[in-house]
Amino acid sequence: VSILGSSRSSVPEMAKNSPTIFDRILDGSIKADIVYEDPECLAFRDVDPQAPKHLLVIPRRRITMLEDAQNTDQELLGHLMLVVKKVAEQEDLTDGYRVVINNGPDGGQSVYHLHIHLLGGRQLNWPPG
Ligand code: C5P
Repeated sequence: VSILGSSRSSVPEMAKNSPTIFDRILDGSIKADIVYEDPECLAFRDVDPQAPKHLLVIPRRRITMLEDAQNTDQELLGHLMLVVKKVAEQEDLTDGYRVVINNGPDGGQSVYHLHIHLLGGRQLNWPPG
């Protein structure tokens, strides 16, 4: 049995089917402060930073949200994690950092294109609230 079942999300299909602002960053029609890119993904600075360093790592191929990820996305998801690590090194986050994926309404997800938040540069609180 797969650990990755089908999505039972309450997120409206419209949110999942409409293009997001990240499509426009990916196609270059909106400028972003890109710090890393490769054939699979892109990392850029969040426009509304919640810490001195706040970056987002996104796959070029859209996965709407973590709960929609499939077994076939395993390699891509692993790659994104390693890119987060690489970007943290690039950004000199030697005292640590936090990695966050917001999923769905209760998770506070606002953009329905999977993204990993990388936050650092200050002592972060726990729980995040
Ligand atoms: O996890 P969540 O969906 O809430 O995060 C979306 C993030 O995308 C926010 O932190 C927001 O500031 C960021 N964003 C951005 N550039 C945009 C639109 C949103 O960095 N043009």
